[in-house]
Amino acid sequence: MSTYEDNNIFAKILRGEIPCDKVYEDDYALAFNDINPQAPVHILVIPKGSYISIDDFGVNAPAEEVAGFYKAVANIVAEKELAGDGFRTIANTGLNGGQEVPHFHVHILGGAALGPMISKAV
Ligand code: 5GP
Repeated sequence: MSTYEDNNIFAKILRGEIPCDKVYEDDYALAFNDINPQAPVHILVIPKGSYISIDDFGVNAPAEEVAGFYKAVANIVAEKELAGDGFRTIANTGLNGGQEVPHFHVHILGGAALGPMISKAV
């Protein structure tokens, strides 16, 4: 696995070096609106720790951080009242996954019918 890149855009947001449109924060996670929304609700949730990807996070983060992060996702879903009509979470990972920012993040998309999960890759 590669090394965490300290100057990625989400690390800068976490350090307060660049602004974000914050929607949620607790000890484990920060969430903000995506700058280029793909749905009426498009929130990015990032852990406070330095993890590149969902697998890096799952393997290397302490259990308390993993639990805290996913509780934060659930708290945001509840605050935004997304569960009733449904929503989608995505964690793009690496080259094939189309990950642009190398700090683990979960996209929460909702507010409209989202269509097929992905375009066909075969
Ligand atoms: P990825 O492809 O890595 O899963 O998604 C990265 C997401 O970050 C994209 O949806 C992109 O629009 C969003 N993004 C990139 N730079 C910024 C930024 O500076 N601020 C915010 N709020 N979102 C960003």
